[in-house]
Amino acid sequence: MSRKNTEQYTSEDAISLFGKNVDVVIVIDKATEKYRAVIRRGIFVDLIEEEGNYNDLLSTIMIHLNTTSEKLPEGYQAFLPNYGTFTHKYSRKLKLVIDEGEKAHIVQMMIYPLADEEAYLLIMDELDSNENEQESQTYRKVETIEKTFLFSMYIDLVEDKTGSLNISEISEEAVQAELKYTDWRNMIVNVIDKEDQALFMERSDPEYLKKMLTPGRTSSFDCLMQNLEGVYIWVKLIFSRIETGDPDDYRYVFMVQNIHEEATAMFTSLKKLSDMALTDSLTGVYNRGKIETAFKNAVKEYAEKNEPLSSLIMDIDYFKAVNDDFGHAAGDKALKKFARIVTGCLDKEQVDIGRWGGEEFVVICYNKTLDEAVLLAEKIRSKVEGSAILDSKKITCSLGVTEIKENDTFEDAFERMDKALYAAKSGGRNRVEKG
Ligand code: GH3
Ligand code: MG
Ligand code: MG
Repeated sequence: MSRKNTEQYTSEDAISLFGKNVDVVIVIDKATEKYRAVIRRGIFVDLIEEEGNYNDLLSTIMIHLNTTSEKLPEGYQAFLPNYGTFTHKYSRKLKLVIDEGEKAHIVQMMIYPLADEEAYLLIMDELDSNENEQESQTYRKVETIEKTFLFSMYIDLVEDKTGSLNISEISEEAVQAELKYTDWRNMIVNVIDKEDQALFMERSDPEYLKKMLTPGRTSSFDCLMQNLEGVYIWVKLIFSRIETGDPDDYRYVFMVQNIHEEATAMFTSLKKLSDMALTDSLTGVYNRGKIETAFKNAVKEYAEKNEPLSSLIMDIDYFKAVNDDFGHAAGDKALKKFARIVTGCLDKEQVDIGRWGGEEFVVICYNKTLDEAVLLAEKIRSKVEGSAILDSKKITCSLGVTEIKENDTFEDAFERMDKALYAAKSGGRNRVEKG
């Protein structure tokens, strides 16, 4: 069965789909707001005229609303056209009292624009007492998660059917009360993210539900599911078996809870944690593990990418003396400041920078030739030299630069770069050398 949004139905589609299942099908002309009742059954035969104005119809229903206050129930307001039009489906459950003193009827009411006609479709259906009992069971379960609840449904595995589908922001099957559970499952799997489809099929399998859930027990899992706008959101799918003393009673409440906000917040903090595992806590640049991996990957991918790749290593000159003269804390502060100055030189560059150890840092320069990397190294050298990293002592650094060659291993490239650094040191420090 292909999934079609109700907004895409024509009136013919709608009548053939709902006609047998619901008590009222009404087509309302958008321009004139006149309506025509195509189907009227049960309590609605006397209540609703065959033709008339939508506004009059609303007034009639309003008179019969089971409400004690003067204010319109919130649910009913959904049927007053917003700015003169309905743009989406609105589905609400209302209580109607037809004959005074008699018990209220629970009615599911739904309105939405039709696809290719200048008309709205209004559907009403009285829920019978059995459905009502199912509803209230559903509602009781749902109450606790009301704020985030998107959808609930009643499932009977013995009869292979679903029922009492109520207000739904995530599914369209609001009034198709006769849908088989197995059909529903095969349909809904299509709005679940590909990666989660196998999980959904496993956990919603009738045999699985029968075996795993004793009466009163609940099981749930999280997955990405499309909402009506076609956007994937994180939801919790909950199957809850009805409390029953009858071991052959396999009735369940199924619920969809919107957990998108919490889930995305959790992913953000997970990302923060994993970022922390990759960064050097003192300087905030990549740590040794991460920069080494990035370096190895870059060398490996070099062969496939048709672009130059260079790298540089820098080491602070006479840093031991900084610690000796000013103490380790001042040394730490200087390291932090040094890293900040270097990253400041790189902010527009396509690079990765990491702390190789102690006061040594490595920069991978993507898409840069040797000469371009040397220019960048020179920029760093002169910026460091010109900065007041320490108040009372000038800080400089030496740099070694290399360009990755065909068939280089990471070790080959690193050795050349390290040798160049050594040359810069032995050549007098505060210099750039290439290797
Ligand atoms: P050069 O590189 O110019 O040859 O001399 P250097 O004094 O910098 O050389 P060396 O590599 O021998 O010394 C590095 C010093 O850096 C050793 C250690 O005291 C200091 N150091 C390494 N890591 C840290 C750190 O995390 N904090 C502080 N405060 N000092 C550190
Ligand atoms: Mg040093
Ligand atoms: Mg060193």
